[in-house]
Amino acid sequence: FHCPFPICREAFARRYNLKTHFSARHAQIKSYICEECGRSFARRYDLNRH
Ligand SMILES: [Zn+2]
Ligand SMILES: [Zn+2]
Repeated sequence: FHCPFPICREAFARRYNLKTHFSARHAQIKSYICEECGRSFARRYDLNRH
């Protein structure tokens, strides 16, 4: 099961693992995504800072 998030390249053997991953990393309402490394942050401050 591949993560449907555009930048994310993670894949999981079980759908359950994908759900856990998605809610942990992509489910935030406000998410700022780094175009270089694909990491997402809840606050723009964190994005700029990393
Ligand atoms: Zn993902
Ligand atoms: Zn980055």
